Amino acid sequence: MNLMTQERSRGANVLVVEDDWPIRHLLKVSLSAHNYDVSEAETCQEAVRHLSRHVPDLLLLDLGLPDGSGIELLRRLRQEHSTPVIVLSVQGAESTKIEALDLGADDYLTKPFSVDELLARVRAALRRSKSLHAPTLLTCGDLELDMERRLVSLAGREVSLTPNEFSLLLAFMRNQERVLTHRQLLKEVWGEGYLEDSHVLRVNVCNLRRKLNSPDGKRNYIKTEPGVGYRLCLPRVA
Ligand code: CA
Repeated sequence: MNLMTQERSRGANVLVVEDDWPIRHLLKVSLSAHNYDVSEAETCQEAVRHLSRHVPDLLLLDLGLPDGSGIELLRRLRQEHSTPVIVLSVQGAESTKIEALDLGADDYLTKPFSVDELLARVRAALRRSKSLHAPTLLTCGDLELDMERRLVSLAGREVSLTPNEFSLLLAFMRNQERVLTHRQLLKEVWGEGYLEDSHVLRVNVCNLRRKLNSPDGKRNYIKTEPGVGYRLCLPRVA
């Protein structure tokens, strides 16, 4: 890790929600060694208590907890907060990963994972959630994206987006009318390590579309370019 990256990540607060002590310990030691400020919770209940006192910069969330499911915790968290969440899942639990992504998890790590992989994912998630501070208002028809306040509104009504959905929309808003390939979008929003991860892109585009469409489904800002990618353009009312 270079110095600049270390500098940027200093002080970021990470809440680790994991009941398995060896894994929790590994996470704590690895993250603390890289200047992250780590809090720990062993159960859903403890995590809820932590979150009511302080919302961390990032959450690492195990899905199998002794007093409930991390999925439920994620659902509750997303009702109020857009803090990035990386889910810790076991191998073979594809449907659970998809469920977590659908609920607004930003990423997942499959156990067992390497410390390097963990750190790369954490850095990427924090970078995505914090990198957008230029005081710029971007518009496309009724859609407005305020980069400074990280707010998105549609016809004057605020739209609640996860950090990844926000970054994705930002990429689209900066490139209106232009086709962006799957790889371009994956690189822009998730980083170099994700160029083949078309599933995560599909899920996020799908969620974004749902949030930006009118209830009758007639207003669609994000057009699919089959086999190529997506393009943001002014919706034509069908
Ligand atoms: Ca567990």
